[in-house]
Amino acid sequence: MHARHDEPVLLADVAATSRALAATRSRLAKRALLVDLLGRTAPDEVPVVARYLAGELRQRRTGLGWRSLGSLPAPADEPSLEVVAVDAVFEQMAGLSGSGSSTRRLALARDLFAAATADEQHLLRGLVTGELRQGALDALLLDAVAEAAGVPAASVRRAAMLAGSTEPVAAAALGAGSPEAAEAALAGFGLTVGRPVRPMLAASAPDVAAAVAGFEGREVVVDAKLDGIRVQVHRDGDEVLVVTRSLDDITARVPEIVAAARGLDVRSVVLDGEALALDADGRPRPFQETASRSATRDAEIAAGTTLTPFFFDVLHVDGRDLLDAPLRERLAVLDAVAPAYAVERVVTSDPEVAQESFARWVGEGQEGVIVKDAEAPYEAGRRGSAWVKVKPRHTFDLVVLAVERGSGRRTELLSNIHLGARDPESGGFVMLGKTFKGMTDEMLAWQTRRFRELEVADDGWTVTLHPEQVVEIAIDGIQRSPRYPGGIALRFARVLRYRDDKTPAEADTLDTVRTLGGLRAQPAGPDAGT
Ligand code: ATP
Repeated sequence: MHARHDEPVLLADVAATSRALAATRSRLAKRALLVDLLGRTAPDEVPVVARYLAGELRQRRTGLGWRSLGSLPAPADEPSLEVVAVDAVFEQMAGLSGSGSSTRRLALARDLFAAATADEQHLLRGLVTGELRQGALDALLLDAVAEAAGVPAASVRRAAMLAGSTEPVAAAALGAGSPEAAEAALAGFGLTVGRPVRPMLAASAPDVAAAVAGFEGREVVVDAKLDGIRVQVHRDGDEVLVVTRSLDDITARVPEIVAAARGLDVRSVVLDGEALALDADGRPRPFQETASRSATRDAEIAAGTTLTPFFFDVLHVDGRDLLDAPLRERLAVLDAVAPAYAVERVVTSDPEVAQESFARWVGEGQEGVIVKDAEAPYEAGRRGSAWVKVKPRHTFDLVVLAVERGSGRRTELLSNIHLGARDPESGGFVMLGKTFKGMTDEMLAWQTRRFRELEVADDGWTVTLHPEQVVEIAIDGIQRSPRYPGGIALRFARVLRYRDDKTPAEADTLDTVRTLGGLRAQPAGPDAGT
């Protein structure tokens, strides 16, 4: 390992690397660039540099709007900003609240931008707007950390999934001093009760038969897919932590889940599951009610709604780590530890049994099924083929590209949204259609506020947005259409919900929409899109 940490890393160094990264398509070249910069980064700088290279600030929300970045001060001639100091300024901005905070925030931003060179301003702008964020870079970054630290990439990746983020892992590996010490430091990132791990994710199949066929006749676990919010629950003695899919801490908002965890007959446990609001007769309530209870953005808690947790996996119990145990074994533990909260499942190798369960659960108001490999370990952070989801209706996570002013009842509101699928080639988004359907009054009010934050232009009718907000859309299918650049259009698109737990990099691609939208099965018909 090269230890050249005498000079602090400047924002200009990150900006130069970021520019060079964007200029090459070669993964090898990108990795070499990352290795070079990381090799010059001191341990206390690593968390900031790693985040900035991934295109993100360390602060989830700074309160700075896109519009405030419209007119920037003239750039500085010489670079002077040190990354750690830049991070401190954003931390200060994020901490501001109350009257006068937006003026103060703007002043901090102007001073920061005035001290930045043109190159650095470009980087800062990208970090604030999220424009530089690319999911793929995170994987490369982990590989680069491995190379810079002289350890296998697999060790770094595993540690990052268990740590729930890249930065502490990068700091530990790069700060260790030798490859042996780095390996030891990485091995220390086992599952720790109280520290969230990245959730295991599911692939998709168009129907139950296809999902089951993927397992080639072996026995599978068919779980009901509940339509609530993902919760990972850690309990250590009386201490309980509840986090969402994006690992946000919602413990304080869900006392009923905390109480349920405390009621289990264990000393320590880590559970993975879904929480939702139920009717008196046990049927799931509309998703919006669940969401309003846990929303990380709109903190107000809807009165009278109680969430019930259901668990489909267990990662640890009383000192025993279960990540590497086969699902079959983990489920036996789950049934022993939390029988009252276990998600309904059948274990079968018969596609018909799986299909019947799917039909029954969907009839009971559940979202579909997840077909799981009974022998697979828990693969934190992976969307592999060990879990395959099937839903009766087509839903996609798309990005809102623009929004039109409403009319009639919706005057004053931002209503008709333009939907985009991700284009992995260009890193941009391809418009697939528009919809103003499915929005509740509450959603309309929320989106009118939210889209003003994301506004980049307004021609008096259509407000163009920074592509940042993910929305889950249901459609009846897709059809070929010359109207939109992707060559397809959505049939009867309607909004199910806004997804604050997904970044645009996690939105569905044009290819996924084409494949899962069942293009061939759809007869050509009038475009039901609006
Ligand atoms: P979706 O929008 O379809 O819920 P997602 O992109 O959030 O999907 P995926 O990994 O694709 O996440 O799908 C699995 C999700 O389904 C989990 O994140 C979890 O919230 C939910 N879920 C509901 N029931 C189950 C179950 N029995 N097993 C696993 N996940 C379940």
